[in-house]
Amino acid sequence: MDPQEHEADHGTGSPAAPHMTPEELRLWGRRFLDWVAGYHEQIESYPVLSQVRPGEVADGLPQSPPAEPEGFDAVLDDLERVIVPGLTHWQSPGFFAFFPTPATGPAILGDLLSSGLGVQGMLWASSPACTELESRVLDWLVELCGLPQRFRSDGSGGGVIQDSASSSALCALVAARERALTSAAGATIADLVVYTSQHAHSSIYKSARIAGFGADRVRYVDSDPTYAMSPEALAAAAVADRAAGLVPCAVVGTVGTTSSLAFDPVARLAAIARSEGMWTHVDGALAGAAAVCPEFRFVNRGLAAVDSYCFNPHKWLLTNLDCTAMWVADREALTGALSVTPEYLRNPHSEKGTVIDYRDWQVPLGRRFRSLKLWLVLRWYGAEGLQTHIRSGVAWAQQFAGWVREHPDFSLAAPAPLNLVCFRHRGGDEVNRRILDAVNEEGRFYITHTVLDGQYTLRLSVGTVATRAHHVEAAWDAITAAAANL
Ligand SMILES: *Cc1c(COP(=O)(O)O)cnc(C)c1O
Repeated sequence: MDPQEHEADHGTGSPAAPHMTPEELRLWGRRFLDWVAGYHEQIESYPVLSQVRPGEVADGLPQSPPAEPEGFDAVLDDLERVIVPGLTHWQSPGFFAFFPTPATGPAILGDLLSSGLGVQGMLWASSPACTELESRVLDWLVELCGLPQRFRSDGSGGGVIQDSASSSALCALVAARERALTSAAGATIADLVVYTSQHAHSSIYKSARIAGFGADRVRYVDSDPTYAMSPEALAAAAVADRAAGLVPCAVVGTVGTTSSLAFDPVARLAAIARSEGMWTHVDGALAGAAAVCPEFRFVNRGLAAVDSYCFNPHKWLLTNLDCTAMWVADREALTGALSVTPEYLRNPHSEKGTVIDYRDWQVPLGRRFRSLKLWLVLRWYGAEGLQTHIRSGVAWAQQFAGWVREHPDFSLAAPAPLNLVCFRHRGGDEVNRRILDAVNEEGRFYITHTVLDGQYTLRLSVGTVATRAHHVEAAWDAITAAAANL
């Protein structure tokens, strides 16, 4: 039906907008879902990296918005014509760049439910199911990943779904700031110091700055040869800052750095933090998911002593963006720092304190029903299915690491404990850069780089849904062929 036709003015003088009727939603919904399924089916036929030049997508779009309602056939045409060529295909089996973000069927359907229900879950009372499913699913993850019991919502802690590891760090640092300002008499924000390592994600520095810490109050503690933060250097830095009249406030450790998947010694960092009265936050963005497998629970080492922790199901746990699982040991420390209550949000359930209001656990007020997609993912795969995905990613990456080790011209640039392999050709930075460009230009694969010890380093990260062993093998063939053809 033409969208203009179907809303008549019934004499009020103000016709309703041409909303999509439930029947139209059903029809278009089938077409669009079919389109998405087809996209996944054909994913291997696209060059992984988008080939467009800057401005090309914008040139394919009209300068001005549509004045009149448009038919959706035209939208589907434009999707194929303008949008798809401008995509880098993150779901491609040859996507070995950065870290993966898997759009699985159950996650897509969970997002569809969330959008379709259109619920705003800021308060328990604004949609009780939104809050209670979220708490339950995060308690499930505590069990599934073997995380400390103190993170469970039936004690003094609890879990929340954030939009990102970045937001989780921000919320943790705001809580740390408030706790330090309350306990250190006379201290101001200018006195507070945050410690992290050079290998921590850039979002830690950004979060610290947004939370109000000075640029000269973020310390990059030295790391050891495996790129893990040195506890001795942390202790020395905290002592020096105390001596200078400053207040050590928070330590942010990483389990699985973005650059090389280095693991900070969390137990030792947390012990130092506790003796200095600091908050410990741990960022497990990618690697935290590995804990669904008992044999990879080393990623959880030390978490029993930390104040907050997060990892991204939207990286390796088969859930599309955005879905970060964050836990705190003491939820009042978090809500105390983030809760501001205007009159229009007051309600009897919140006043009694018997319910969780997730608006107090995050920066924005409004929140989507994100737990639906995690719920669907966990139910579709079960613990066994999740473990199979993690294990296959590790096995294929380990196989790749073995080929690197055996090759006379390549070597590993860092330990490769899970699904990320950092490696380089012995020819030096320029050679490695040319290998990367040649592999990526060819179109079947996308790999990215980092710099470790000042040297240009190639990275291959495994974890998309479509990837199989033969894709990893073909990527290695392409890399060695590119090196041979230089
Ligand atoms: C990817 C990554 C992040 C950023 O994740 P967002 O959810 O996009 O904020 C933070 N820390 C580490 C260690 C990461 O690998």
